[in-house]
Amino acid sequence: MKQQYYMPTRVIMGKDCIKSNPEIFLEIGRKILIVTGAKSAKNNGSLDDILSVLSSNGQAWTIFDRVTPNPSIACVKEGAAFAQKEKVDSIIAIGGGSPMDAAKAINLLACQDISDENLFSGKYGTEILPMIFVPTTAGTGSEVTSYSVLTNDRAQTKTSLGSPILFPKYAFLDAKYMKDMPLDITINTAIDALSHSIEGMITKRANPITNSIAAESIRRISSCFEALKSGDLSLEQRFELLYGSTLAGMVIANTGTTAVHSMGYSLTYFHNVDHGRANGLILAAFMSYINKYDSRLITSILSIMGFKTIQEFKDTLDILLGERRALSREEVERYAAIAAKSRNASNSIVIPDMEDLVGILSEALLR
Ligand code: NAP
Ligand code: FE
Repeated sequence: MKQQYYMPTRVIMGKDCIKSNPEIFLEIGRKILIVTGAKSAKNNGSLDDILSVLSSNGQAWTIFDRVTPNPSIACVKEGAAFAQKEKVDSIIAIGGGSPMDAAKAINLLACQDISDENLFSGKYGTEILPMIFVPTTAGTGSEVTSYSVLTNDRAQTKTSLGSPILFPKYAFLDAKYMKDMPLDITINTAIDALSHSIEGMITKRANPITNSIAAESIRRISSCFEALKSGDLSLEQRFELLYGSTLAGMVIANTGTTAVHSMGYSLTYFHNVDHGRANGLILAAFMSYINKYDSRLITSILSIMGFKTIQEFKDTLDILLGERRALSREEVERYAAIAAKSRNASNSIVIPDMEDLVGILSEALLR
């Protein structure tokens, strides 16, 4: 198994980092496609900051704000057609994982002729436009990954496409855009990031570099557990979550995720459960499964968070996530079967078979 660490994205961080670095934006192009969701970028000040830098730089832009959560293939094709029509030469994505992931796929489809059959193949040419990403959730780490996760109706799940050409050139981290983020989105996205770092440590591709980064990420995110429980987060804590989430992105960019993500995709696809929440509902049961084979690894992950047992961690997750909607036996079996076919499921240090996946999902969610 190849062990490597690769991170081509330059990360700029801190309060007002966009407005303090206008010259960086001049590097990427003359006419920029800005990709956002429907509302948040307009409301949290991030779009205004970008537009003021572009206008003072004399750069032109056009906005595609039609990205919905869990973007579909149709959505990114629409964005790609728009990018071609507008003849843009670079892309800025602002938002959570949905606009950031959509921007990567829009870029790929605008630059290259890729058939539906080849969309998730990873076999692409080299043509791509330079990208700058501004995360406004602290969760996915998409600003430092080469993945784009799309809703894939053909496979009735979410599928990720990935290629080294899809790393953004720059990521700008400013927690001020998260100041008014609702608590449920804050919690769900924080748990997504935590799950990335924990899953990363459980993969076959984990190595000393990714493990160090994952441990630091877990430390930063878990230091905010009490604030997340109370719902009262300072700007400093918002930054801890954002920084922890970017670190987690650097981990999974190199390790990938596990069956936690594969099974979580079914909860999102069939029950509209937010992505991070879906992972959080399954994470402790997956750790119990791995614990049977490598209890030292699980104990070391728990100790970074200050927990002695998986149950203590699960108690915290239960407080953060609230009531769970249970699944029927038929749903558990169907979602386990979908996960068994996914790439992520075979990525962990122990590969769960169909029976194991049914066991993990049952422990997490069976009625
Ligand atoms: P999201 O789907 O991007 O956004 C969720 C909601 O949060 C939207 O309603 C959005 O509003 C709102 N929002 C965003 N920023 C906000 C802010 N600062 N204040 C208030 N509201 C805000 O959620 P996400 O969890 O960040 O991303 C999930 C997606 O990322 C999933 O598709 C998942 O599969 C993918 N993902 C990708 C990777 C990767 O490596 N690329 C890793 C994990 C997950 P608007 O729609 O109005 O913007
Ligand atoms: Fe995720």
